Amino acid sequence: METVILNDGVEMPILGFGVYQVPPEDTEEVVATALDVGYRHIDTAAAYGNEEAVGRAIATSGVPRDQLFVTTKMWVQDKGQDYATQLFEESRTKLGLDYLDLYLIHQPYGDYYSSWRAMERLHADGAIRAIGVSNFYPDRLVDLINHNEIPPAVNQIETHPFFQRNPDQELMESNGVQMESWGPFAEGRNHLFTDPTLTEIASATGKSVAQVVLRWLIQREVVVIPKSVRRERMVENFDVFGFELTPEQMDQVATLDKGTSAFFDHRDPEWVSRIGGGRS
Ligand code: NAP
Repeated sequence: METVILNDGVEMPILGFGVYQVPPEDTEEVVATALDVGYRHIDTAAAYGNEEAVGRAIATSGVPRDQLFVTTKMWVQDKGQDYATQLFEESRTKLGLDYLDLYLIHQPYGDYYSSWRAMERLHADGAIRAIGVSNFYPDRLVDLINHNEIPPAVNQIETHPFFQRNPDQELMESNGVQMESWGPFAEGRNHLFTDPTLTEIASATGKSVAQVVLRWLIQREVVVIPKSVRRERMVENFDVFGFELTPEQMDQVATLDKGTSAFFDHRDPEWVSRIGGGRS
């Protein structure tokens, strides 16, 4: 498996497996299947409600802990540093792990400076190997870097052919932050799987549209965590290292960028209240 080296020296597999919207009752079997297929990098979150099931799948898999890379995320909180530490402990207990490989602030809302300081301490104590953020636009990312000791190792943001995030990636690279894509297939929005440009590249390479999209992101050195509940698609999404897109094919995908989210803008006040407005 290809890896990227994060700014604190931690090695992260460039391809992982996401479990957003996998129902808790199905998650143990789905993750067990993904581990059996060969995935060694799993992405979950407290907000997904399936950390315990991920933990059970890991525990029964027989895969040695040091061969796994496990990410989870802290949901929005506004009760300070001790509470953030408590949220970490809840996730760690649910996952049944001694340490996390990567812990992310899920959204740039609430008292996330306290969360970050709690995470810096947990990182120093060895409870988390790398700490990062998610859904941070450049302004929030730079401000967090400017006012803390440890810069985020990762920023996980919506990234796919219709929202390519090149300026975000440039800013992250210049600050030593690894870009990670969520929603690499835009969850199928904008008819991604039947898009004519992607379909043309898929037939030219003898690969599927999903494989072309993942390959395009990997060639941009973006970490990818596609989700599927189906074994055959897990296998397909894992098989993206035996071919390369040409510079011309990379340029063809680049023409698909609409420059806006296929979901919602994290800076839209209505959405800020809708997804991050509750007191906790
Ligand atoms: P995604 O990976 O872009 O798309 C998943 C969808 O594509 C599912 O409907 C899946 O269906 C389908 N699919 C997967 N492989 C396919 C293939 N080879 N051919 C055709 N269809 C395929 O969406 P996502 O789950 O939103 O994003 C991936 C991961 O990113 C999440 O699971 C989560 O870990 C993370 N994420 C993070 C955030 C955040 O705020 N940080 C937000 C969203 C997601 P089936 O399952 O039926 O195969």
